[in-house]
Amino acid sequence: MDGSIESRVSAEVDNWLRWLPRWRPGTHRGRSRLCRQCFGSPVIAAAGLVTDVPHAVQHAMAMRMKLVIDAFVDEYTELNLPALSRELRLNEERKANTAYRPAEGLDPEFKGLDLDPPAAEEAPYLFTFSELAQSESPDEMPPPPPPLGPQEKAAIRAELSLADDYAKQMGTRVCVALAEHRGRINAGIAEFVEPQVQALLADLERSLDIR
Ligand SMILES: [Zn+2]
Repeated sequence: MDGSIESRVSAEVDNWLRWLPRWRPGTHRGRSRLCRQCFGSPVIAAAGLVTDVPHAVQHAMAMRMKLVIDAFVDEYTELNLPALSRELRLNEERKANTAYRPAEGLDPEFKGLDLDPPAAEEAPYLFTFSELAQSESPDEMPPPPPPLGPQEKAAIRAELSLADDYAKQMGTRVCVALAEHRGRINAGIAEFVEPQVQALLADLERSLDIR
């Protein structure tokens, strides 16, 4: 991936704004727990998406910024952290040999959300993506790699901590760059999200009046 942090953030805000008109309320089921990606996220705060913005809309932005940060961390790791790079590569190769993983290759808007839509009570699913993802039995997995020696482990641990520091730095810079786009992010919310939320509230009020 080419480009500065600023241009990558700007391009992902473009992508988010292109996706936004397709957002509809209630396309994702309510979560029973807080989303780790969004709750208290400095990215969501930098985007100005904290108050009264539906979770799916926040989540799409959080995942797009995560893409930017991850891409920088991957590049940094590949260039500067040989032990960690090697470990990640081996892990990828091992995973590539295993079966179907429905959570991979999704558009960023759907990453980290529940894979299955809510089941209707009278029409239960024959299977769910979540079950399918878990159904891999241990004997289908390739054998684990040979255990790491203490020196290798220490090297990987040290490099992990460097990668972590770098990710934090990139996160901060992404937030600074993202804050520059607040104007058009807010405009997108006002145009595509607010009217739908208002319509929902009006519907709700009407149905309460009828009773
Ligand atoms: Zn989320």
